[in-house]
Amino acid sequence: MILIQGKGVSKGVTKGKLYFFQRPDTTIEKKAAADLEAEKARLADAQAKAMDQLTALAEKCRAEAGDESAVLFETHAMFVEDDDYVETIMDTLEEEQCNAEYAVKAAGEQFAAMFAAMDDAYMQARAADIGDVTQRILNNLMGVAEGGIDSDEPVILAADDLAPSETLQLDKSKILGFITMGGSGNSHTAILARTMGIPAICGAGEALKESYQGRLAYIDGETGKLILDPDELTLAALKDKYEKQMEHKRLLETMKGQEDVTLDGRKMMLYCNIGSPEDVDAVITNDGQGIGLFRSEFLYLAASDYPSEDEQFEAYRKVAAAMNGKRVVIRTLDIGADKQVDYFEMKKEENPAMGVRAIRICLNRPEVFRTQLRALYRASAYGKVAIMFPMITSVWEVRECKRACQKVMAELEAEGIPYNKDTEIGIMIETPSSVFVADALAKEVDFFSVGTNDLTQYTLACDRQANDLGKFFDPHHPAVLRALKMATDAAHAAGIWIGICGELGADISLLPTFLAIGIDELSVSPTSVLPLRAEIRKSIAKTCTLEKLEC
Ligand code: PEP
Ligand code: MG
Repeated sequence: MILIQGKGVSKGVTKGKLYFFQRPDTTIEKKAAADLEAEKARLADAQAKAMDQLTALAEKCRAEAGDESAVLFETHAMFVEDDDYVETIMDTLEEEQCNAEYAVKAAGEQFAAMFAAMDDAYMQARAADIGDVTQRILNNLMGVAEGGIDSDEPVILAADDLAPSETLQLDKSKILGFITMGGSGNSHTAILARTMGIPAICGAGEALKESYQGRLAYIDGETGKLILDPDELTLAALKDKYEKQMEHKRLLETMKGQEDVTLDGRKMMLYCNIGSPEDVDAVITNDGQGIGLFRSEFLYLAASDYPSEDEQFEAYRKVAAAMNGKRVVIRTLDIGADKQVDYFEMKKEENPAMGVRAIRICLNRPEVFRTQLRALYRASAYGKVAIMFPMITSVWEVRECKRACQKVMAELEAEGIPYNKDTEIGIMIETPSSVFVADALAKEVDFFSVGTNDLTQYTLACDRQANDLGKFFDPHHPAVLRALKMATDAAHAAGIWIGICGELGADISLLPTFLAIGIDELSVSPTSVLPLRAEIRKSIAKTCTLEKLEC
C-alpha cells in the first residue's frame, strides 16, 4: 500500500485512475525529417483535427453565449486554412527538410511578429490568435489532449498545480477528483473542486510521482489521503466512508425546498458562488436561493483577447435569466495576482497580490471597465442583477465606480437600450482598509460581501497561495472574525445587508459565530448549500455567542 498525505480541501471519497495533467511542451527543437512525406501527412492530420476542434468549439459557444463568441473560433479556423500561413509552413518543411513541429512553430512566430508590428491595434491583437492557432496545431502534432485529459474514462487529475486559466479549459466531465503537489485550500483548483462537489487534495508534494500515472487510486478529500493498492482494512474503511457519504447525500436531498431559517426565526440568505454560466445548473440542483458571487473573470481568462460587450452580455443575461428573478451578484473583473491574462500586458510586479489588480485595473483602464458595465446593465433587464466591485480600499474608488455606472446608464438611456436603473451596487470587503472605513463605505452602496480569502491574506499577512504557512494561515483568527463583526456593524448601522462570499462562509463550525455577528447572507459553493441549510435549521440564533472573537 502506498499512502500520500496532503491537505484535504474538498470533501468526498472516490476512486479512479490517476492521470497527470498534460501541459503543452513549448520547447520544440529542429530535427531532420527521416521521411518528409510522413511529416507532411502528420501535418495534414493535425490541421484537420484543429479544424474539427474549432468547428465544435464554435458550435458550443454559439449555443451557450451567442453568435459573437463563436466568431473567435471561426476566425481561428480561417487561420488554420489561410493560404499564406500554410504555404509558409510547407516552404519551411521543403527547404529545411525538418520535422512538422518546427515548421509550424517557425511559421507561427513569423506571422505573430508580422501582426504585432502592424500599426492598427486590431491587427496587432491578431498576433495572440495566430499564437493560439499555432499552439493548437502543435498540440495535435505532439498528441497533447485538448482539455488536458486524454482518457476515455473519468480520472483523478494530478498536477503540480493548476493555473486559473488551465482549470477553465479542463474537460470537467472527465474529472472524479483532484490532487496537486502545491496549492492551498484557497487556490482555484480547490474552489473549482468544491463547486463541482468532488474530492480534492492539495500540497501532496514530491510524494506524488508521475510514475503512478494510470494506477487505480483512492482519494479522501476530508483526510487529504491518496492511497494506491490499499490493504484490506483500509479498503473496507474507504468503502464504509463512501457508503456513509451516499447516505448523507440522500438525507440532504430532504433539505431541498426548505427555508433557510433558524429555529427562532432568524433568516439567512443561502446563495452560491459560480465561476462560469455552466455552474448555474449546480446552483439550481442544490437549491441555492441566489448567486452571491459570479466571478466574471472566466470570460477574460478563457479568451485570447478582450471579450466584447455582446459576448459578456450574453453570458450575464444567460445566468440572470436562468435564476428566474433570484438575485445574481456579478463581480466586475478581478484579475492580477494569481490570475494573469497575457493580452492585458500588465507590467511584471514584485508583489502582484498587492499590485495593480481587480478594481485598480478597471479604474486605470476606463474603456475595459465601461465595456463590462454596459454588458452588466444590459443584462440587468433580464433578471435581478447586482453589481459588485472587488478589492476596494477607499471611498473615492467606490465613488469613481458609481460615476462610471451613471455614465453607462445615461448612454443606454440615450440609445434606448433597456436596463434596470435600480440595479444594486455592492462592494467586496477584502482589505483591512475597507473594514476600517466600512462606516463611510456603507453609506455609498447597497450591500457588502466579505471576501474572506483575501481578507485573511491581507489581515494576517499570509499568502493565500502558499501551502507551507501552516498554523500561521488561520481564517478563524480573532482578527479576521473581528473584522467581520466591524464590517457587519457598519453595514447594519447604514441599513444595508452583508454577506460572506469567501470560502469561510461554508465553514459549518463558524455558523454560530456568523449568526452571533449578524451576517445576513452566505454565498458558498453549490454543494455546500444543503449541509448549511440543515445546520441553520437546527440552530438557535439568540443562543449563539461571540466567544470565537476572544483572543
Ligand atoms: C475572496 O477573496 O474571498 C473572494 C471571494 O474572492 P477571490 O477568491 O476570487 O479572490
Ligand atoms: Mg478576493
